[in-house]
Formats: sequence, C-alpha cells, structure tokens
Amino acid sequence: MVHFVGAGPGAPDLITLRGQRLIETADVIIYAGSLVNPALMESAKKTCRIYDSAVMTLEEVVAVMRGAEKEGLMTVRLHTGDPSLYGAVREQMDLLDEAGIPYDSTPGVSSMCGAAAALNLEYTLPGVSQSVVITRMAGRTPVPDRESIESFAAHGATMAIFLSAGHLRELGQRLIAGGFGPDTPAAIVYKASWPDEKKIVCTVATLAQAAAENGIDRTALILVGDAVKASGYERSKLYDPSFTTGYRKGKEQ
Ligand code: SAH
Repeated sequence: MVHFVGAGPGAPDLITLRGQRLIETADVIIYAGSLVNPALMESAKKTCRIYDSAVMTLEEVVAVMRGAEKEGLMTVRLHTGDPSLYGAVREQMDLLDEAGIPYDSTPGVSSMCGAAAALNLEYTLPGVSQSVVITRMAGRTPVPDRESIESFAAHGATMAIFLSAGHLRELGQRLIAGGFGPDTPAAIVYKASWPDEKKIVCTVATLAQAAAENGIDRTALILVGDAVKASGYERSKLYDPSFTTGYRKGKEQ
C-alpha cells in the first residue's frame, strides 16, 4: 500500500500525528527533497529505504512503489505542505490504479497556512475579504488563460500565490493591471516555519524590490490584499454579543 502524506510547511512538528505514525512505520519513503525537511526522516525505521524524488522522474517514483508493493512493503510518499496543492499526486495515483496498487492520502499543513501563521494573519477578515484565491504565475508549467492573475486581481479578494517568487516584477504589474492599487498590502513569506524563515510586508508595487533586497527568489509564498494589513475590518457575527447563533442567544445591547 502507498500512503500519500502531507509533510507540512517545514518544521518537523507541523506534520499531522497520522503522518508521523506513517513515517515511523514505513518500509519505504519517497520524499520531495527540494522542499520536505529531511529532519522528518529521523523518525523512520533504521531499515527504511529512503528516496529523494527531486532527482527522480514520475516513472522512477512509481517503479520504486511497484517494487515495494511486490515485496509486501508499505510506502510513504511524502509531499510538501498539503499534497492536494501543486503536489503532482494525481498522475502518480493514475499509474498506481493501472498497476492495481492501493493508496490513500493524509493531509498536511499547507505552506499557505504556515505563511499565515508566520504573520499571525487571517485571510478571511470580515468586511475585507471572505475569499482566498490560491493560484500561481505561469512559468514553465502553463496556467489556463481564463485563470490570469489580472482576472483574479479584479475580485480584490485575498490572494495566496505559489511558485512565483522568481517573477515578482511581472506579478506586481499584473496585479495592478487587474485592479489592485499599487499600495495594496502584500507579503512575501520565505520558508515559513523553517529556521531561516523570512517574512516581509510590503505593497503590490514593491514586491520585486522587497524580494531582491532580501535575496528571495524561491520557496516563498506571496500574499496579497488588505487582509495582510489587518485594518478596517468588521467584527465577526459569530462572537458578536447581539448575534444569536445555534449555540448562544444574542442579547440586546
Ligand atoms: N503542496 C505545497 C505546495 C507545493 S508547490 C503546499 O501545500 O504548501 C511549492 C511552492 O509552495 C513553493 O514555490 C512556494 O511558493 C510554496 N512553499 C512551499 N513551502 C513553503 C514554505 N515553507 N514557505 C513559503 N512557501 C512555501
């Protein structure tokens, strides 16, 4: 059996208990060495075979899984953050389906949650934004035309932009072309939850400059929108004394 596991954003204690147990019992671990903290492998069995998928193709990864399955071994496929975001898991699952190898998934703390934690930020501030757009710039991997940065920026919703730290000049221009004011708050969070984490609050117009000044061109999440500055929001209804919920009767003020 193959278990797809989210490793979390970096800090080894930000994996789930279930993920940790799977690592402890795995016979084979294939981890995405470019972003998964190798410290997570310290709790693997002495006999565990460990592979770094950064230097492997899809076919090589699946060949290791097939080999393990033939020997009756349990494999953990460890992905950074949560596997469902830019994890390239579906293509692995389809090949496992073809091979008749069973698998399941264990979620992880996405870097977008790690980055919010680094800034003590709430993406969905009442009266500011109630939506988060998770997207990326097109790079060597294309993005469908209808999902342009400009089209999402037009909503003014909070944005969490992955895989784009190397294109910040263009990103800033496109966010502004889509409708964000140049002074809209933005943040760059580099290696959230790692010991060398960096977090910089800037504006949409100064994204590229802020990244250059801090030597950041990869492994960063870009957050955009007024939620980053956390001002001008409204109190939640849920905790408003005058608001009645299924658990609590509101009182006249
Ligand atoms: N599945 C992952 C995303 C993988 S794509 C998740 O849920 O987080 C890789 C991109 O994720 C990087 O280019 C960067 O934009 C972001 N990323 C991954 N780990 C990060 C971290 N610790 N801090 C900031 N961004 C991170």
